[in-house]
This record gives sequence, C-alpha cells and structure tokens, in this order.
Amino acid sequence: MHASLHHRSDRIDRGGPDRLHRPVLVLNASYEPINICAARRALVLVLKGVASAEETASHHVSSARRELRVPTVIRLLEYRRIPHQSRALSRKNILMRDRYTCQYCLKVTPSGELTLDHVIPRSRAGETTWENLVACCHPCNNKKGNRTPEEAGFKLHRPPRPFSMHTSRHLIRLLGRSDDQWRKYLFY
Ligand SMILES: [Zn+2]
Repeated sequence: MHASLHHRSDRIDRGGPDRLHRPVLVLNASYEPINICAARRALVLVLKGVASAEETASHHVSSARRELRVPTVIRLLEYRRIPHQSRALSRKNILMRDRYTCQYCLKVTPSGELTLDHVIPRSRAGETTWENLVACCHPCNNKKGNRTPEEAGFKLHRPPRPFSMHTSRHLIRLLGRSDDQWRKYLFY
C-alpha cells in the first residue's frame, strides 16, 4: 500500500513540479482552517483517502491511474485535535514565523539567503529555543558576530515568540487574501 502510493506520487511529481509546490489550505473536518501544505502533499492526502479536495485549480496532473485536479483547499475527513504550540522548532518554521524578514534590518530575503541567529549567542549560553532564534540576513549576522543585540547596537524588530496557532492563522489569512477559493473559508 505505502510503496504504491509513493510510486504514484513520484509520477505526479514529474507532471509539473511548480504547480505541486503551490500552497494548499488545509481544513479540519469541522471546516476550520488549520494549516497550509504544498499541493503535492495535499494530493497524496486525497489519494490516501485522508482528505477530500474541497476546491481545485483548473489545471490537471496525470497520475498512473487518472487525471487529477490539483486541489487548492482540502479537508481532513477525520477531526484532528490541534494541540497548542505543536509546531516543531525548525529552520523552516522560524523563517515562516519571521516571514522571511531579517529581524534586525527588516529586509525580506529569500529563505536560502537567510540564516538563523541566536539572539544571545550560543557561546554565551544562549539557548536553541523559539525565544532565542530569529531570521537574520548574512550581512547582519556577520556584523553581529558573537555579540548580543545590545552590544552590536542592533534592535530586534519584536521579541521572538513560539509559533502559536495565532501566528499560524495570521499567516494563513495573509496568504489567503489574494485567493478567492481560500477566502470563503477564512473570513466568516
Ligand atoms: Zn539584516
């Protein structure tokens, strides 16, 4: 079962990699927006029977068995309890939380060109936590070096916080503002 799914999604991937990276809105069984995932993952969830496609884009991708419409909104078929602050502490999530913006100079930067900065440097017992990590561009990171923001004359845009459900909803709304298919699930 798993092997064949994998195989199928590999085939899908060759069909159109760009389309398959587009963000898809994920709704809980209750229609509450809970997450965003890439179209590729959304397709796998639909194929597995874990989610249904609520809205689809006009274009298709071909899988081994059938033509599939790329979903733009999916809904989980089983209700999932969402624990608070369940987001993993990862580079990707920190950059998302900080909206790909250097927290010192406020420049929006592609994720490949951003680093993670320990606000209190690790060498000074700074911890690897949501509250001590921020997105930082290379020039700022080099300037700051092994110093605290105060020592380097830097000011943090805002105190870093854990990635909460609130942050997550905010991001979903921000992304969904320009998408008609998402909007009806977001503003009610
Ligand atoms: Zn910067």
